[in-house]
Amino acid sequence: MPIPILRLALPSPLRRLFDYRAPDSVPRTALQPGMRLRVPFGRREVIGVLVEITDQSDVPEAKLKTALEVLDIQPPLPAALFKLCLWTAQYYQHSLGDTFSWALPTLLRQGEPAEARQERFWHLAEGARVDDPRLARAPRQREALKTIAQHPHGVAHALLAKLQLSKDSLDLLRQKGLLRMEVRRYAPAEHHGSWLLQPELTLNPQQRLAVEAVRAGLGGYQAFLLAGVTGSGKTEVYLQLIHQVLAAGRQALVLIPEINLGPQTLARFERRFNARIALLHSNVNDRERLDAWLAARDGEADIIIGTRSALFTPMKNPGLIIIDEEHDASYKQQEGLRYHARDLAVVRARQENLPIVLGSATPSLESLHNAHSGRYALLKLTERAGGAQPPQFHRLDVRSRPLDSGISGPLQQAMAQTLAAGQQVLVFLNRRGFAPTLLCHDCGWLSQCPRCDARMTLHQRHNELRCHHCGHCERPPSNCPSCRHVDLRPVGAGTERAEERLAVLFPDYPVLRIDRDSTARKGAMDQLLGTINRGEPCLLVGTQMLAKGHHFPRVTLVAILDADGGLFSADFRASERMAQLILQVAGRAGRAEEPGQVIIQTHLADHPLLVQLTEQGYFAFAEQALSERRAAGLPPFSHLALLRAEAHKPGQAEAFLDDACAEAEGLLGALLLGGVELLGPVPAPMERRAGRFRAQLLLQASARAPLHRLMAAWLPLLEQLPDSRTVRWSLDVDPIDLF
Ligand code: ADP
Ligand code: ZN
Ligand code: ZN
Repeated sequence: MPIPILRLALPSPLRRLFDYRAPDSVPRTALQPGMRLRVPFGRREVIGVLVEITDQSDVPEAKLKTALEVLDIQPPLPAALFKLCLWTAQYYQHSLGDTFSWALPTLLRQGEPAEARQERFWHLAEGARVDDPRLARAPRQREALKTIAQHPHGVAHALLAKLQLSKDSLDLLRQKGLLRMEVRRYAPAEHHGSWLLQPELTLNPQQRLAVEAVRAGLGGYQAFLLAGVTGSGKTEVYLQLIHQVLAAGRQALVLIPEINLGPQTLARFERRFNARIALLHSNVNDRERLDAWLAARDGEADIIIGTRSALFTPMKNPGLIIIDEEHDASYKQQEGLRYHARDLAVVRARQENLPIVLGSATPSLESLHNAHSGRYALLKLTERAGGAQPPQFHRLDVRSRPLDSGISGPLQQAMAQTLAAGQQVLVFLNRRGFAPTLLCHDCGWLSQCPRCDARMTLHQRHNELRCHHCGHCERPPSNCPSCRHVDLRPVGAGTERAEERLAVLFPDYPVLRIDRDSTARKGAMDQLLGTINRGEPCLLVGTQMLAKGHHFPRVTLVAILDADGGLFSADFRASERMAQLILQVAGRAGRAEEPGQVIIQTHLADHPLLVQLTEQGYFAFAEQALSERRAAGLPPFSHLALLRAEAHKPGQAEAFLDDACAEAEGLLGALLLGGVELLGPVPAPMERRAGRFRAQLLLQASARAPLHRLMAAWLPLLEQLPDSRTVRWSLDVDPIDLF
C-alpha cells in the first residue's frame, strides 16, 4: 500500500493546497477530510485542515514532507460547515486555509482539542428558598442567592464576576446548605419542561401573517425579507418563530450587528426562553467562544446569538437562521476574508435546507431587489406594535441660520420644550471628537495627518489631534506650525463639542455622550444605558452607536445635526446609508406612549431624496434609489469586485494594478468572456493612508458567471506578478465601500 498523500489547506494567503505524506503510523482509514494536522511549513510548524486524500502529487517524491501529527479522531468541523468554507473560499477568491482560520474558533486553529472542558457550576440546593430567614441580615448573600435562583441550569464559575457575584458570598451560602456546586461539562444540561419563561404576546395581524408564512416554510430552504418599521415587533416575530423551532427539537442561529447589542439581545431572549443560549460576539474570550461553538455543534445549545463570524457556528440540528438588521454594514468583514455574513447566511440556509429570515426597518437595496425578483418572500410590518405612533419628520433648513456648535436656534427651542415636558432628547452626530479640524485663522493651515490624505480630529478632552484613519496622535500645536500665529480655531462640531455646548445651554439636565470614546471602558455603556432607562429628562449625544436597535421609551425628540454628508458623497451607496441611518435614529423616538418628532438640520432641505424619505418613507425612497441604480448599471443591477493595492512608494501600487489589468484583458480575450468591464486603475479616493499610497482597479460585470470565471483564472496569475510581494493587495468581491 502506498502511503497516502494528504492535501491540506494551510493558514497561508496562497490560493492553493499543500501536499504531505501521512504520518507513518496513521492508517488511511483513520483519516477524514476536515481533520486537523500539524505539519512542517518552511521553518515553522503550522496546523492545517485536511481537504483531500489521494495517491498522487505534483510534488516530486523526494521533496514531499511528512505530516507530524493528526490532531483529531473526528473532524471537528461538520460536513455542512466544511462545505460552506469551500464555497466561501471559492466565491471570495480567498485562500481556503485562511478561510478556515477565519471560520474556526482561535483555539481550534491553535490545536486545542475540539472537546468541551470541565467546568464548575453553582446551583440552588434542593429545598433552598430565596427568603431563607438566615439571610435576613445578609443582603449580599440574599441577592446572590436570588441571582443563582434565576438560572435553572446553574451559573458557571467563570461567569461569577460578570453577574457581580462574589465567591465569598457563595461559599457562605454553600456552608448554609443553600447552594451546591457541581462539576460537569461546560455544556448545560438537557432541556427540561416548557420552552417559555414568559407568555408570548398576542400578535397583530401583520405579525401573525409573517409568523405563519415562515412557519409554513420550516423544514426547507426559503428566504424571507421581514421589512418592518422600527418598533413594529420584528423581534417578537423572531421570538415566536424560534419557539416553533425549539418545539420541533431544532436550533436557531441569530446574527446581530456588531455594536453593543449583545447583552441587551441576550437579556431579551433569556427572559423569554427556558433554553440553552450560546453567545458569540467580539467580547467573549477564546475559551468561551470555543465552548459555545462546541455546544452548538453538539446540539447542546438551543439558540446561538452572535455577530458576523458566528455565521460559521456549526449546528447539529439547525432549524432557522435569523439576520437582524440585515442592512447593517458590520456584516461585511473589511479585512482578510472579505465576506458578507448576510449573503453567506443565505448560502448556508440553502446548503442546509433551512428557512432564513432577514429583518430590517430599512432593508438593503440588494435584499429589496431580491424580494422584487421573487428570490425572497417579502413580509411587511407597516405599523408600530403596541400602538406607538410613527415619528413626525421636520426638515429644518439651516442655510442662513447661525449654528451654535452645530445647533440652530429653532432646534434649541424644541429641545427646551421636550426637556421641560419631562422627556428625553437624542442628538445624533456621526463624528466623534471635538471638531473635525483645527484651522489657522491667519494663514489657512489645517491639521493634516502626516500619514494620510485626511485631517486630524481635535479631541479636546485628551488634548490631542487624532487621525481616525490611521490612529496617528499628536498634541495640538499652540502656534500655527506654518505662520506661527496663535489664532488656531476648531472648525465644525463633533460629539464632544455638542456635548460641551449642550451642557452650557441646558445646565439643569444631564448630557450623556455615547460614542466609541465614551464607551471604550468596560461597563461604561451599561452604565449610560442604565441612566437613560431611569427615564428622567436628559440629553443623549452620540454617533451611530445610538442608532442601532436600542429601545429608549422616554426619547421623544430626535435631532439629526447634519444630514448633508450623505447627499453629495462620491460613494454610490452614501444616500442609501444616510437614509438607513436617519430612519434608524428616528426609530429611537417615541417608541412608547408619547409621539416622537425628528428634526433634521440640513442645507439641502429640498433635496428630492430627503423629501421623499421624510414625507413618503423608506420604501418610496428605496424605489427611487433602485431605479437610479438600474439606470446607472450599479449594484444590485451589476456585480462588482475591487482589487486594491497599496505600497510605500508612489506609483508602485498603480504599476502593479497596470500589470493586473493587462492580465485580466488577456484572460477576457482568451476565455471569450463578455460583459466584464475593467475600470482603472485609479488612485484611491484617499490616496495616502497610514503612509502608504493606494490605488484600485474596479471590475464591473452585468452577470456573475463571467466575472467569477475571470477571477478564478486571474488570481493565480496575480500571485505570480513580480510586484505581488512588495505591494500589499487584496480582492474585495461585492465590495460595500469603494475606497
Ligand atoms: P422591532 O424589533 O421591530 O424594533 P420589537 O419587537 O422590539 O420591535 O417591538 C417593539 C415594542 O413593541 C416592544 O416593546 C414589544 O414588546 C412591543 N410589541 C411587539 N409586538 C407586540 C404585540 N403583538 N403586542 C403588543 N406589544 C408588542
Ligand atoms: Zn497659520
Ligand atoms: Zn492618518
